[in-house]
Amino acid sequence: MNKPIDLRSDTVSQPGDAMRRAMYEAEVGDDVFGDDPTVNRLEAMAAELLGKEAALFVASGTMGNLIALMSHTKPGDEVLLGRESHIFQYEVGGAARIANVMVNPLENREDGTIGLDAIAANVRPPNIHAPVTSLLTLENTHNRCGGSAIPAADMDAMAQLGHRKGMRVHLDGARLFNAAVALETPAARLAAECDTVSFCLSKGLGCPVGSLLCGPSDFIELARRNRKMLGGGMRQVGVLAAAGIYALENNVARIADDHANAAALAAGIGKYDAFHVAAPQTNIVIIDIVKGEPAAWLRAFEHAGVLAVGFGPTRLRMVTHINITAEDIETALERIAGAVEATPV
Ligand SMILES: *Cc1c(COP(=O)(O)O)cnc(C)c1O
Repeated sequence: MNKPIDLRSDTVSQPGDAMRRAMYEAEVGDDVFGDDPTVNRLEAMAAELLGKEAALFVASGTMGNLIALMSHTKPGDEVLLGRESHIFQYEVGGAARIANVMVNPLENREDGTIGLDAIAANVRPPNIHAPVTSLLTLENTHNRCGGSAIPAADMDAMAQLGHRKGMRVHLDGARLFNAAVALETPAARLAAECDTVSFCLSKGLGCPVGSLLCGPSDFIELARRNRKMLGGGMRQVGVLAAAGIYALENNVARIADDHANAAALAAGIGKYDAFHVAAPQTNIVIIDIVKGEPAAWLRAFEHAGVLAVGFGPTRLRMVTHINITAEDIETALERIAGAVEATPV
């Protein structure tokens, strides 16, 4: 049996030799005491890259978003977010359970943005009956909107409106560097009008673990306390931070290859009548199933040696990443051709 081509997510990537060497050689200390020089260096790098005062290394994107929710709000506050956002769809209800906020999901447009009218209409005026609408969260690239890269002008418009309406603004930038590469716009520029931004090292940047939450110094101080409360205070964690430093120095520009591979994959799959595939903007390929059952296609692809995930009732998702070469895409398309031939619809 051939080794499967794993396109389930960019989180499945394996650290390469050079990254592992950086991890092996990392100088470490107890980070809860602030003693880990490698973590301190990564946090300083991240803050600088994102144009914020300070940064905090956290275990995951989910933890970064949860800490952001906790640190920006009071229990009982209302948070405006996109209905298709990762925070609303895939974070186990942590906003309600742990941050004790009420989320108000607004329609995402196809490009991942939230309409300015919808934002403005959902901010509640001060009233004894009403919760305080204190936070707006945005997402870029937008995962469920097909990895769409939201340009700076749209980011600015949403965030500036949020501020005018008295909210803080957090950006879930799990794949912000994919947006930065696709739009040829620095990540700091995309996040410029947002108070805080989180991004994942463990996705397109190819690290085994970790995310960074960036923002003003006083916010990050509070976030550090909240991280400790959640059990996220880690000790000689420079072994993981070293991977992050390696990735920020070496793995950003190469994301363009993932986008080219995703485009080739989408074009190849889009040739079949059974599928509708929009041209991807970044590394996420959404396959709308127009003939047959998504679950059956998933099994047929897996049987042929291509792994994807279900993405809602009528869709599959494939994601390119650092371990997928242009040759792998050719092989994946050959295998998919075989699966299509073998699957009567
Ligand atoms: C993956 C992802 C996260 C969460 O990251 P984890 O490290 O898996 O917890 C948050 N937001 C978006 C948009 C994501 O795609």
